[in-house]
Amino acid sequence: MEGEERKIYDVIIIGGGPAGLTAGLYTARSRLKTLLIEIGLLGGQMTTTEVIENYPGFPQGITGDELSRLMEEQAKRFGLEAVSQEAVEVKIDGDRKVIQANGTTYHCKALIICTGNEWRKLGVPGEKEFTGKGVSYCATCDGAFFQDSQIVVVGGGDSALTEALYLTKFAKELTIIHRRDALRGTKIYQERVFENPKIKLLWNSVVQEIKGDSVVRSVVVKNVKTGEISDLPIEGVFLFVGLLPRTQFLKELIHLDEAGYIITDENGETSVKGIFAAGDCRKKLLRQVATAIGDGATAAFAAEKYLQEG
Ligand code: NAP
Repeated sequence: MEGEERKIYDVIIIGGGPAGLTAGLYTARSRLKTLLIEIGLLGGQMTTTEVIENYPGFPQGITGDELSRLMEEQAKRFGLEAVSQEAVEVKIDGDRKVIQANGTTYHCKALIICTGNEWRKLGVPGEKEFTGKGVSYCATCDGAFFQDSQIVVVGGGDSALTEALYLTKFAKELTIIHRRDALRGTKIYQERVFENPKIKLLWNSVVQEIKGDSVVRSVVVKNVKTGEISDLPIEGVFLFVGLLPRTQFLKELIHLDEAGYIITDENGETSVKGIFAAGDCRKKLLRQVATAIGDGATAAFAAEKYLQEG
């Protein structure tokens, strides 16, 4: 009974990226008993980002690891509790929210969902088979394995560009394969990519297959304009073709848009009273650390008001 009591919280936050850590900082400072559930590292996607240079206050940029560490330290200083578990189910019981996570049942009055995104898969033959054997979704985790190698990066958004720039530290030569003739990523990253002598761009091209034996040896590339197919010998394939919100476990509970992003009002409240969402998993215009922070603070404040009024 005593153990069960400890699993009842005012606020539970699912997801420990910048949105979750900010929400936790705010609710903990408001003296609300708060638990943060995160399956991976606190900091979320920041932890696999080499340098963050568009988060204000750090004129020279800051590593994702360091920013994560500082945010964690700050939130915990005010009493935020965190557990390393995966939340798999949320149910409603009166005004309580009941969360199942690795065999533990947690209860709370207000829930803040900050589950972020996961990498979209390219869905081509060889991708699954060679993941960890030359195919990767994380340049900071795996880049160092590709010293003096030929690497391809697939995608044309901010992730593909920033990760490609980082990978030039290791690669002998790097080719960005993009399905159109214009990049989607921020202009400053585009400029750096175009200026980098190690980076080549393969426009209007898609990867059809990843081939190899015990490790990756080549990619089969199709030019979508000419139909020409070529076999490009490479050692590493980094895939950055977008993100998918981690919200599938909530789809019966709250309203999601057609892409799976959580629909909220301007205060971060979802279609269920007392359930809020913040950060990249929310339907919104811009997904950055700076906007996740604002979302986290707003959702925490809205959750506090909900508890006061309830
Ligand atoms: P994204 O902006 O959605 O870009 C995905 C890229 O992959 C696009 O260029 C897209 O092509 C391409 N793509 C999608 N499906 C494909 C397929 N099946 N085959 C080939 N190419 C495919 O995703 P992201 O780059 O991961 O960025 C996600 C969010 O995080 C963005 O809001 C971004 O600004 C943010 N972010 C910011 C930073 C930063 O500011 N430092 C760094 C990383 C990410 P099309 O262009 O043709 O659609």
